[in-house]
Amino acid sequence: MRKIFSALLAGVMAFSMTAAFAGCGGSSSSTDSSKSESNTSKSTSDETSSKGSKGTLHMATNAFFEPYEYYENDKIVGIDVEIAGAICDKLGYTLEVDDMDFDSIITAVQSGKADFGMAGMTITEERKQAIDFTDTYTNAVQVIIVKDGDDKVKTKEDLKGAAVGVQMGTTGDIYVSDLEADGTTVERYNKGADAVLALSQGKVDAVVIDNEPAKAFVAQNEGLKILDEPFENEDYAICIAKDSSLTEEFNGALKALKDDGKIDEIIKKYIKA
Ligand code: GLN
Repeated sequence: MRKIFSALLAGVMAFSMTAAFAGCGGSSSSTDSSKSESNTSKSTSDETSSKGSKGTLHMATNAFFEPYEYYENDKIVGIDVEIAGAICDKLGYTLEVDDMDFDSIITAVQSGKADFGMAGMTITEERKQAIDFTDTYTNAVQVIIVKDGDDKVKTKEDLKGAAVGVQMGTTGDIYVSDLEADGTTVERYNKGADAVLALSQGKVDAVVIDNEPAKAFVAQNEGLKILDEPFENEDYAICIAKDSSLTEEFNGALKALKDDGKIDEIIKKYIKA
């Protein structure tokens, strides 16, 4: 009887230890409740990613940036989400996606509220002071959207003195802000979509934003067009807290996914040539 009891007790103890261990969530502080209390408006787990034995990684993003990250019903999908899922799969992490304003992403990564940020984010020297970037996974270009038939802004030069809408804290914001000395008025919005809406309503003369979201916005809103003249070439990368070993892990996975064609395959799924 005693023997059976102690065997049972040992079993119960082993079970609760496993449960406690599982709750630790591996190397990342995924169970830290502060994460869910951050300025995120939504958190979704990526169902394409299997449960990782190394715990959960939180990706900070702004899910209004099609085709990189956007909502399909209640789920955040897109190029960045799929690449992040493939990286996490390869490395043995579970992926959770936290949606927030674009200009909160770097702070979330710096403070540890998110493990990494991925949001069509351009590598810039200024951002590098605050966080580290992985190797680049794709490139992009800033473009100018205007109203069809409105010839106030026909070239990049014409942005001088115009009212220009941008998404707050983006490279579009940075470039256009440089033109303020030339009489340009910069209208900053939380979402690219809000800047595009302001353009449709005639509140601004142009919007400067990344080319692929620009195409999506123009397709969804009648009467807008993208100027042929490209504005600025950029490289996208994933941001991670300074000096974290995760950057090297991610670079290893990124290289493998580039080499075996997975990154190209994901990009081609969303961007038709
Ligand atoms: N590529 C731009 C940047 O990094 C815009 C990114 C975004 O709006 N998600 O600033």
